[in-house]
Amino acid sequence: SNQELLNQQEKRESNARSYPRRIPLAIKEAEGIYITDVEGRTYIDCLAGAGTLALGHNHPVVIEAMEKVLHDRLPLHTLDITTEVKESFVDELFASLPEGFRDRAKIQFCGPTGGDAIEAALKLAKTATGRQSLLTFQGGYHGSTHGTMSISGNLAPKRKVQGLVPDTHFLPYPYDYRCPFGKGGKEGAELSAAYIEQLLDDPESGILPPAAMIFETVQGEGGAIPASLEWLKEMRRITKERGIPLIIDEVQTGIGRTGEMFSFEHAGIVPDAFVLSKALGGSLPLSVVVYDRDLDAWEPGAHIGTFRGNQMAMAAGTATLKYVKEHQLASHASAIGDKLLQALKDIQKHYPELGDVRGRGLMIGVEIVDPSGKASPRGAYPADGALASRIQKECFDRGLIIEVGGRHGAVVRFLPPLIISDEQAEEVISIFREAVAAAAR
Ligand code: PMP
Repeated sequence: SNQELLNQQEKRESNARSYPRRIPLAIKEAEGIYITDVEGRTYIDCLAGAGTLALGHNHPVVIEAMEKVLHDRLPLHTLDITTEVKESFVDELFASLPEGFRDRAKIQFCGPTGGDAIEAALKLAKTATGRQSLLTFQGGYHGSTHGTMSISGNLAPKRKVQGLVPDTHFLPYPYDYRCPFGKGGKEGAELSAAYIEQLLDDPESGILPPAAMIFETVQGEGGAIPASLEWLKEMRRITKERGIPLIIDEVQTGIGRTGEMFSFEHAGIVPDAFVLSKALGGSLPLSVVVYDRDLDAWEPGAHIGTFRGNQMAMAAGTATLKYVKEHQLASHASAIGDKLLQALKDIQKHYPELGDVRGRGLMIGVEIVDPSGKASPRGAYPADGALASRIQKECFDRGLIIEVGGRHGAVVRFLPPLIISDEQAEEVISIFREAVAAAAR
């Protein structure tokens, strides 16, 4: 049963386990947007491997690509030595890059998690600029290694781990719902940019010339917070004017999830480097840094790792990239995302507990608040993580898996596979509506 397997897990695995605490089941099978537990109950999976499964579980094109590798007896492990499978993957990836970047791009395969690729990008920027300090943003999440934890906002895991990377500076992210800069949006973007420029010009700011600025265009773990396109353009302007490499973390936003292949394309900007993982390997571990060849100051061996040549992941990734493009899944994500947002805003009209509904494409969040608390001058109520957990549980009991995260664990997050259909999205909404009604009672 679920409980027996969970008990075994509890006994043998570390206390750092996270998802099983909130999503208490043992998975038997999975297909498309559905997973089935060992007791035969089926759930809609709006967590999708934390935003990994662009094509859902076990998509036939992904399975077929992996079967071909096995059937042809291709090597499964090649370090970073090349193969035909690998070069096909790289062809597909380069063909997916925005035109202005394709001819300037180089890639580094990393080892093979998002966190490792972020590490690589930071090291690349430090090597290329000869500088050490890093500009990062409150609420950002970039991984769990020492380096990536250093540039991530969440303090809880940091309190017990000293000696993180020094000289990292946290700037305010354009979190419109709780924006300290005017009204958020365009006005907030301009004020936020002016504040950052003033910091960088101020000899008293304590910030040395930075090796890089890094952010997500939509904060994922920080609570599904989209930065306005004006803000993204302003950050590109500021970094360009000052010769600061701009690194965009596309680990969660990349490969169509926000409604464009890469999320920076919404703003019409191109970073100096960006990082891909999650959906890139079509369910299997794979990550790369894509960067402007001007940054390529690396010596051989500057970033290495054993598992940079997983052929199965590359085959699955090639199939995924192809499918996303051929079936215009980015536009599909945008259309379904808009529908979900609208439906959630309709529910919000009846429940003041749904403080803010926001997102871009299929990265959607609802910030749960306590309307009996004291509102900010702009009307934001205090976050209510306990109610968010109850909503998550009510959803789970009704067969819908969603994630809770963000500040105070108060943001309910929807990250469904990009292949989710209209009808399936409606089912998600109808379950969520019932769950909110039950939890908010
Ligand atoms: N960056 C972002 C934006 C992420 O969402 C994540 C994972 N949630 C990471 C980096 C780290 O990736 P990984 O867990 O594969 O190390």
